[in-house]
Amino acid sequence: MKIEYEDTFVKVAGLLGGPEYVKVARALLNNENATDEEIASATGLKIKNVRKALYDLYGRSLITGIKVRDPKRGWFVYRWKAQRDQTDSFIQAQRKKILGKLKLRLEYEETHEFYHCNTQTCKTRTFEEAMENFFKCPDCSKPLNRVDNTELKEALKWKIKQLEEELSK
Ligand SMILES: [Zn+2]
Repeated sequence: MKIEYEDTFVKVAGLLGGPEYVKVARALLNNENATDEEIASATGLKIKNVRKALYDLYGRSLITGIKVRDPKRGWFVYRWKAQRDQTDSFIQAQRKKILGKLKLRLEYEETHEFYHCNTQTCKTRTFEEAMENFFKCPDCSKPLNRVDNTELKEALKWKIKQLEEELSK
């Protein structure tokens, strides 16, 4: 059976490294226990790029590599195999990481006041920074006004809730 798309393993590979990883991932699913060279010839990619993708996927525990002796040439080669059961836990781990970052950001937004001068190219300042500058923008000298971050906080809360629901499935 030739697997073309929609596979989570292929999708994850694509997210990590783009089209080249997708080719390598598909080749791995189509040819279990393939070597670097077999994957290179199946995908038409340079062996160097195939190895880069394989070592990266291996480093993330998404594939396994078994060292075997090449019977014809006598030297050792690696035979690679997709660890499809690891794909879901990889995705879950990524979600947890994002969730952690979003929670930190929300906490930051909730515990700080922000000020801005309404000049698009100028930075948003914290209350402390605004106070140090006597509520006048240090870049354009316009007055610094309180920024309403309610919408941002709502958006963060919504995204956090969504991720928590996905993680509890
Ligand atoms: Zn300004």
